[in-house]
Amino acid sequence: MSPPVFNCDLHCHSTCSDGLLPAADVARRAAANGVNMLALTDHDSIDGLPAARAAADAAGMALVNGVEISIEWERLQIHVLGYAFDSADQALNAGLGSIRSGRIERARRMSAELEKVGIDGAFDGAMRLAANPSLVSRAHFGRYLVERGVAKDLRSVFESYLVPGRPGYVDHRWASLADSLGWILGAGGVAAVAHPGRYKLSRTDMRRFLAEYKELGGQAIEVVSGSHTQEHVDTFARLAREYGFLASRGSDFHGPGESYFDLGQLAPLPDGLKPIWEAF
Ligand code: AMP
Ligand code: MN
Ligand code: MN
Ligand code: MN
Repeated sequence: MSPPVFNCDLHCHSTCSDGLLPAADVARRAAANGVNMLALTDHDSIDGLPAARAAADAAGMALVNGVEISIEWERLQIHVLGYAFDSADQALNAGLGSIRSGRIERARRMSAELEKVGIDGAFDGAMRLAANPSLVSRAHFGRYLVERGVAKDLRSVFESYLVPGRPGYVDHRWASLADSLGWILGAGGVAAVAHPGRYKLSRTDMRRFLAEYKELGGQAIEVVSGSHTQEHVDTFARLAREYGFLASRGSDFHGPGESYFDLGQLAPLPDGLKPIWEAF
């Protein structure tokens, strides 16, 4: 008999940000899928952690505190994951609050841009779909555009709308890379770059970004991710070894029927990498 696989999923979302299921349901679904250790990583919010923890405890599954912080680096929107931090830390909570405070105003500007191409009502539509209005995101706008029949699914929305150079995209001031690392490390946590394969960075710029991230105390990167191709996995496994980063694994599950990968249903980490969970 082969030994049981340690199934760790360290990236997913609940209705506290732009996921489709309440935090407790996310934790229960993960446990039912055979996840041994889960991190709920809502965008810029840790409000779902208590409910996720109660459900995880009841199911006998380990839960690690998590968050996915929106930052900008050289005008590019990047996501930095934080893990195993003290959720009562004041600077972390204040920092996340400062990012959330800009989202509604940004949503109004996104809606005005969509109006210019004949799509009305997007602000109200997105807000209706956002269980937590201060976390209104491009995912809610995307779901509204699908609902309106503007695109057939979320994937095609993000090919023609809501991305740089396309209708509905607006520039926004997020946190800085240094802010995000300061908050995570200051709260005793571990940081990981979310889905590095998704950023439109040249090879040189990616290396510059990773070097700066490491310099600021960044310890890990996601290698196995729901948004990565096999080529991304190979590339970031190599970069993790080269820079001495811990490697993480996360589905980025947002909801049934929407996400490509369900909770815990990912390939294992490639051999020879140091798993991030050994640092928790
Ligand atoms: P925001 O934080 O408001 O900029 O929204 C970002 C969110 O939009 C991501 O966390 C995803 O949930 C969603 N998103 C962005 N790009 C895509 C994509 N290509 N396909 C599906 N969802 C996406
Ligand atoms: Mn999201
Ligand atoms: Mn992300
Ligand atoms: Mn995510």
